[in-house]
Amino acid sequence: MKKQMTMPDKLRMTKQRKALLEVVQRGNTHPTADDVYRLVKKRLPRISLGTVYRNLDLLVAQGLMQKLEMGGAQRRFDAKHERHYHVRCVRCGRVDDLSMKPLAEVERAARRLTNFEITGHQLEFSGVCRECRRPG
Ligand code: ZN
Ligand code: MN
Repeated sequence: MKKQMTMPDKLRMTKQRKALLEVVQRGNTHPTADDVYRLVKKRLPRISLGTVYRNLDLLVAQGLMQKLEMGGAQRRFDAKHERHYHVRCVRCGRVDDLSMKPLAEVERAARRLTNFEITGHQLEFSGVCRECRRPG
């Protein structure tokens, strides 16, 4: 009998998914899928890149992590749940959290200007990190 392709209400936390979640949480470095693959392979040497991609997407769909849509070539993953901003280094591509409260006033202004009910906003800062500013 063919298995139904419906999504379970709650994702089963397999060993692989648990390892992926831990890799993304650790150090809060906002790894790309390729970074996650490289890191998780140390623990699960037989895992494939396809499995990593697929399970990262599942974890995102279940709200267990978020995919950051930012400038720069590759999407990055973040397991921190509170809304927060990021700053990206234009030279090396590193992404750090920014400890700044979400700006409620920009959402109020956007609502006034558009008459939309505003449900969120993205704001990406870019700059040059300390490492990259260090002289030669
Ligand atoms: Zn940098
Ligand atoms: Mn973050």
